[in-house]
Amino acid sequence: MTGPRRRRAPPKPEPEYVPGTLLNWNASKHWDYDGPRPCRYCGFDTQLRDSHGSHAHKVCAEDALAAQAREAAEAYRVRSH
Ligand SMILES: [Zn+2]
Repeated sequence: MTGPRRRRAPPKPEPEYVPGTLLNWNASKHWDYDGPRPCRYCGFDTQLRDSHGSHAHKVCAEDALAAQAREAAEAYRVRSH
């Protein structure tokens, strides 16, 4: 027999990811004035840098972050079972 369990709140549906809204790369540190270099994700040249100073397109970095977030969420789901 299981005791009564009170749930804090029903799980909310996860917000849908809208590309282009995750990161704000307006700061000048995200722009490489020395010229384009290959993106660390797709290999095409870009003058943008990610927060680590590596060259990356904003959309590529956002895709990577979204994938990481998905994997993390899935890992938590597996563990909580
Ligand atoms: Zn790229």
